Amino acid sequence: MNQIQDILKTMDYGPAPEEDAIVRDWLKRHKGRFGHFIGGKFTAAGGETFGVPNPATGETLAEVAIAGKKEVDAAVKAATGAFASWSKLSGNQRARHLYAIARQVQKHARFLAVLETMDNGKPIRETRDIDIPLVARHFYHHAGWAELRDEAFPGHVPAGVCGQIIPWNFPLLMLAWKIAPALAAGCTVVLKPAEHTPLTALAFAEICKEAGLPAGVVNIVNGGGETGALIAGHEGIAKLAFTGSTEVGRILRKQTAGSGKKLSLELGGKSPFIVYADADLDAAVEGVVDAIWFNQGEVCCAGSRAIVQEGVAERFYAKLRARMEKLRVGDPLDKSTDVGAVVAKVQMEQIAARVKDGVAEGAAMFQPSWASKLSTKGCFYPPTLFTDVMPASKLAQEEIFGPVLVSMTFRTPGEAIQLANNSRYGLAASIWSQNLDTAFDAARRLKAGVVWINSTNLFDAAIPFGGYKESGFGREGGKEGMHEYLVPGWLKTAKPAAIAKPLPAAAPLDADEERGEGASLDRTVKLYIGGKQARPDSGYSYPVHDHAGKFVTEAPLGNRKDIRNAVEAAHKADGWSGMTGHARAQVLYFLAENLELRAGEFARRLVQATGASAAKASREVDATVARVMYYAAWADKYDGAARAPQARMLSVVLNEPWDVMAISCPDEAPLLSFVSLVAPAIAMGNRVVVTPSPRQPLAALDLYQVFDTSDVPGGVVNIVTGDRDQLAGVLAKHDDVAAHWYFGSKEGSALVEKESGGNLKAVWANQGLARDWLDPAQGQGEEFLFHAVRHKAIWTPFGV
Ligand code: NDP
Repeated sequence: MNQIQDILKTMDYGPAPEEDAIVRDWLKRHKGRFGHFIGGKFTAAGGETFGVPNPATGETLAEVAIAGKKEVDAAVKAATGAFASWSKLSGNQRARHLYAIARQVQKHARFLAVLETMDNGKPIRETRDIDIPLVARHFYHHAGWAELRDEAFPGHVPAGVCGQIIPWNFPLLMLAWKIAPALAAGCTVVLKPAEHTPLTALAFAEICKEAGLPAGVVNIVNGGGETGALIAGHEGIAKLAFTGSTEVGRILRKQTAGSGKKLSLELGGKSPFIVYADADLDAAVEGVVDAIWFNQGEVCCAGSRAIVQEGVAERFYAKLRARMEKLRVGDPLDKSTDVGAVVAKVQMEQIAARVKDGVAEGAAMFQPSWASKLSTKGCFYPPTLFTDVMPASKLAQEEIFGPVLVSMTFRTPGEAIQLANNSRYGLAASIWSQNLDTAFDAARRLKAGVVWINSTNLFDAAIPFGGYKESGFGREGGKEGMHEYLVPGWLKTAKPAAIAKPLPAAAPLDADEERGEGASLDRTVKLYIGGKQARPDSGYSYPVHDHAGKFVTEAPLGNRKDIRNAVEAAHKADGWSGMTGHARAQVLYFLAENLELRAGEFARRLVQATGASAAKASREVDATVARVMYYAAWADKYDGAARAPQARMLSVVLNEPWDVMAISCPDEAPLLSFVSLVAPAIAMGNRVVVTPSPRQPLAALDLYQVFDTSDVPGGVVNIVTGDRDQLAGVLAKHDDVAAHWYFGSKEGSALVEKESGGNLKAVWANQGLARDWLDPAQGQGEEFLFHAVRHKAIWTPFGV
């Protein structure tokens, strides 16, 4: 009785440990040693191994084998063998397998939660209530996509064998995010978990066996970065999916350039957490707990950068400090622990180093009074708050990946958006305001793939997740995520595109006379930049010949400076992206109308350029007019979706433009291909810098008069002629271009992919393959619209 009275007086937490015997038995059964899971069997745990410590105690839980070339080859071979039959199963058959996995995950939920906690250090409360339920949810949801694939993605086939490399912060959940959509699409996989946390992936391998998944459909190989690089570089892999640091993402972008592998990258973040003066401050403080102290702050989308309105900042920080005093850091297996152990000593050291740098930079640091009393036996790091952080400081710009919140203040809503977007990253954002106007205005203006209003760190299998800017490209979850594992069926048998010969020698403008052509650039075509004709910076031009090799005119030879001007003009035309789909549709319909009025002229130009018969040229022009109308039709319809992942939660998935895109056009069907690429891009609100077919640029250049008469605002379409690959290289490197469509040679595709690593722009390259632009199945459709947008998911809880 006295004891209970004492407890009531102090209100102290007693110990509430979760039983770990179930995991210890499992480890014992495996003698604490694990090999790889290849072709439905575990290999012996021989050869070189690495130890897997429990970060909360330092105890070594297991020794795990490292996969070298031999093992990676064997895993890819097993996946390739299994692909033949797995990809031919009906949707219903694949759905049954995914459903069986989901059921087995639920059956082993407690075991998986405890194992994840011991391997990673995250609190059992989170593995039990968040990680593992979401894993099961992911397999259920994707059982549905397996069933519906052919209906939802007509004409599409699975990409093939997928390489998947995952990090240590959500080991089993990241596995589910990768494996579930791949299997649903009909792909098979070789997955590498992170070296710090391989154990739940190995337990998952057992689940695959129990669930009767055919051998070779899922293969798991262990090891560090070298093993990952072997997977990424393997020629048997058709698609690579990666989650981890931006640095490694960049390495993989370069490594896979030109290989034809599909690539999705989910990378780092420094996500803003904006608190407006009218926010419910107590709710926002709890939001911070979930934003940065969830999973020890080792979360790519952690709200790690608080941006607080000046008038409430001091009150907010005072509440936050008080809340921090009450957080419980310690044994992750204790059910009342809030913050567990950081994944490894090396990560602790990295966090400590960044915090030290922050103090040296002059920011004010706060840690709870008990911070120095934390156990030194495990990797425990106290919750940390920095205030007075300079927006340009390292503290504000670099990912810490630990329980450290950095914070700054703002005065006006506009300033909040500026500060929030002042980051190379764009993964997520959290907005706290009781005013819907303020919240939705911010949600639209933030450059981030996921925006949580009055909430944070919410995930669901139906809602796409992924970044803007250097946070990567590609989405995981929902219909959008399924696209990552599918390709158009016709692509599998596509032939190489015919690439026109290199351009003839360029000459300075005053060489026209010497050529004896009598053509002066003043009387010939120009570049089209910002709605105006422009002379090329180089002062050089190159001759354009007709199909029979006869000189027609001079075309300007664009260079780096012209590209810079065109990108700048495209940025200035941002009003286009803010227009309604209806307004853009009207402009496109008008464009189609004006193009049709000049159909005869365009057909004659095509006859001259390509030598096509008059009838064939007319067919191309008619198809071009129809294509513009097709995308006018889509302009106000391809606008996203509403989803309801939870009760009292409205989530909208918006299709937002990339803003400024680069388009390198092919040589085939020079007018139709140009329009087939430009029309979907601008219909979705992008402004584009386009390089037309270098050899046959005239049909595209004639178009600018049509743009002018059709009310296409200046700067929406900018045309720079010249050598396709030289210009593509400049565009790929340009940090103010967010996406690049390249249709040219295989070498050019490789170049663009390689050079795009700077700002990690999304690249859609044809890999040197031809496309029949007249065939609607290849020349138009959702494939183009999908690549013309980036998805933003906005979560809005209500009535809570
Ligand atoms: P990495 O990006 O290095 O690791 C992610 C995965 O990639 C791991 O499986 C890793 O293997 C593997 N890998 C490493 N190098 C290569 C390579 N060259 N080719 C192929 N695969 C490779 O992240 P770290 O674990 O090193 O963490 C470093 C920092 O990255 C963190 O402090 C954090 O800032 C950020 N990070 C971001 C994550 C996110 O979700 N956005 C997740 C994890 C980290 P292995 O780990 O086994 O060596």
